[in-house]
Amino acid sequence: MMRIGYGFDSHAFKPGVPLVIGGLAIEHPEGLAGHSDGDVLLHAITDALLGAVSAGDIGTFFPPSDPRWKGAASHIFLQTALEEVATAGYKIVNIDTVLVMAKPKIVPIAGELRERVAELLGVKPGEVGIKAKTPEGLNQDHVAVAHATVLLESVKLADAPARMAASADVDDIDEVVKGLVGGAHDVSALGRKRPAFDTDDLT
Ligand code: MG
Repeated sequence: MMRIGYGFDSHAFKPGVPLVIGGLAIEHPEGLAGHSDGDVLLHAITDALLGAVSAGDIGTFFPPSDPRWKGAASHIFLQTALEEVATAGYKIVNIDTVLVMAKPKIVPIAGELRERVAELLGVKPGEVGIKAKTPEGLNQDHVAVAHATVLLESVKLADAPARMAASADVDDIDEVVKGLVGGAHDVSALGRKRPAFDTDDLT
């Protein structure tokens, strides 16, 4: 009972705004333009988490037309995605990301960035990968791009052995397992409203 999710985001650099990537304030003359704080990395991770549990995307939860999200800190978006993952009965195994940008250089802050992202996700730093690339040949030096992949595992599956032991008088273990985990991951069965798909993500 595992699921994967993938997320992508991009934002243009803009003078005069603070640069926030992965929830970390970074010294730089330019920040990222966006309706929110433009945190390209957290947006990609948020979409990867939502995608892994088929819960729509960041734009469905936080439409840019809604003034509440103007200048919003993106860890709010991430928190919502984590709640969706928990509601669906899953937890993070690990997450891997790629940041593509010409400047600033990520290497000097890579450790701090990884710790911050792990803290926001509630996982260990060793469960977070952050790789930085420069956009060689892409002609996009004024754009920050982020890709994120996440692997989730069923929380209920981890509990299954203890529950099986408690039900040791039942002959057919396969039926017990099916009863414990079967159907628990149908998101619509949990009564959550499935948002309409919306690709208009300007967050
Ligand atoms: Mg975005």
